[in-house]
Amino acid sequence: MADSPIHSLVLGAGVGGLSMALLLAKAGRRVTVLERQAEIGGRLARFHRQGIPFDTGLHFTSSLVGILGQMLAVLGAEEDVVAESFPWSLRLPDGHELAFPNRGRGAFYDYLAREFPREQDALRKYQSLETEVLRRTPMFDLRVGMEDPMTAFSELDQLPLGMLLRRLGMSPELSCALASTALYHGGLPAEVPAARHFRVSYGFEEEMIRLRHGGEALVRNFRRELERLGVEIRTSTRVVAFQSLDARGQCHHAALSDGTDMAFDDLFSSLHPAEIVPLLPPENRRGFQRLTANLPDTCGFFTIFATVDAQCRTRPHLASYLRDLDFNKIINPSGPKEAFLSTGCVFSQETRLDGTPVQSLILLAPAPAPPAVTRPSREEKDAMAQVVLAHFYEALPEMRGKVQVIASATPHTYARFIPPGRGAYGVRMRVGNPRLMGRLPVRNFYGIGENAFTPGVVGTMLSSFLVARQVLEEEAYLRLLPERAFPDHEFLTNWSC
Ligand SMILES: Cc1cc2nc3c(=O)[nH]c(=O)nc-3n(C[C@H](O)[C@H](O)[C@H](O)COP(=O)(O)OP(=O)(O)OC[C@H]3O[C@@H](n4cnc5c(N)ncnc54)[C@H](O)[C@@H]3O)c2cc1C
Repeated sequence: MADSPIHSLVLGAGVGGLSMALLLAKAGRRVTVLERQAEIGGRLARFHRQGIPFDTGLHFTSSLVGILGQMLAVLGAEEDVVAESFPWSLRLPDGHELAFPNRGRGAFYDYLAREFPREQDALRKYQSLETEVLRRTPMFDLRVGMEDPMTAFSELDQLPLGMLLRRLGMSPELSCALASTALYHGGLPAEVPAARHFRVSYGFEEEMIRLRHGGEALVRNFRRELERLGVEIRTSTRVVAFQSLDARGQCHHAALSDGTDMAFDDLFSSLHPAEIVPLLPPENRRGFQRLTANLPDTCGFFTIFATVDAQCRTRPHLASYLRDLDFNKIINPSGPKEAFLSTGCVFSQETRLDGTPVQSLILLAPAPAPPAVTRPSREEKDAMAQVVLAHFYEALPEMRGKVQVIASATPHTYARFIPPGRGAYGVRMRVGNPRLMGRLPVRNFYGIGENAFTPGVVGTMLSSFLVARQVLEEEAYLRLLPERAFPDHEFLTNWSC
């Protein structure tokens, strides 16, 4: 009788869990995905209000050329995924407006050199350090071997971004411009390793894009591939308890919320680590608790979902308005006074369910995440919306009277995806954080998802690829990579400095 395939259990059907499920299934494993919600997709999913689609957690991302395009092609999820260039700008508190060129990293740095002519030397040094980290990072070409000495993690994984900017003697304004992409990973410049910041920010320096129809095409493609490969997806189901660990420190049984038990060989969790701890038998909790007890979380976002009158023509873009230069405060507001020090405005063209076009506007303002704040009352929520709108009109007075607010969300609203008390980007990346990616204290459990490596859709997918490579082993992993996934080799090896 043939051996039965390894059975892998994947927790969470967001982009992290779905990418992992596809990689394991493509490698010949039997895979089951458990998803607490009734639908798959997690924060990739869109929602509709008054027939208008709005994004939850994929407003923009970095270029499809390169690692994101590679990953989608390997997963068989690239069909109908259309990237639209998405210009982005930043207005500093003194009114200095930076409109980034969105035409490659070289153009990004040339532009900053023109805007900050007296700081060209520091800027070039920063750029070359970034280049060095990218060259050494084993993740920008899925084929590059982990054993290659050039791919070792960098010393800048130990140096906070803020310290690097100070060492380079940069002005607060230029530091602010370079640190601004921290808004897209939630790490504080004072804590986030410079290399981690580079690995997220390079993509936006290269090109910021928006996927046409947000994450919809991705979810559709993931679903089709999962079905084709026979992956079992159990929605509205979660683990309620794991059975005790065996003598090898492994766990192979879980009790599920639908009253059934599930046996598995290994488990891949895209959940926040704090969600796993209470599921473990008390005698086995200590390892996990020690590992995760002191991990701080990122902030949340107060979000306004709106439309802009058709007579007022807007072009799709991201504009961020800052009221302070200190990203440590902006990203980690300690209380109401520090809330909303920046407003990100995502303008886009969408299609209503009835087929008519509409200009949508999403305002995102960092706000303290629960439990630092309690659930606001309706009046408090309205008052927060008024503050965010006032900041928006202060920055763009010509929009007054042209915006219709459809809905708003406090950090509590995101509890559907994010466990209570946790931030928009999960665990905050800091120098010295324990490694959550890969094997966890239960020997056959693996951490994946945004908490394990780097937040954002690209970083979350990458964590699944890196863990799959570790678990499946090199030969089986390389067999998953079709030639067609690598059309742009030049781009990957030729980091312009
Ligand atoms: C407001 C906001 C804006 C963002 N904007 C962007 C952006 O523009 N670009 C970008 O790249 N990133 C953005 N992000 C971050 C990005 O959405 C995340 O990094 C990424 O989607 C995380 O994917 P994931 O699979 O780890 O988590 P999720 O997508 O949250 O998936 C986790 C899944 O697990 C399920 N789950 C939770 N608990 C359980 C349980 N106990 N059992 C079973 N299932 C469970 C959840 O329901 C969910 O479906 C944003 C995030 C937020 C909150």
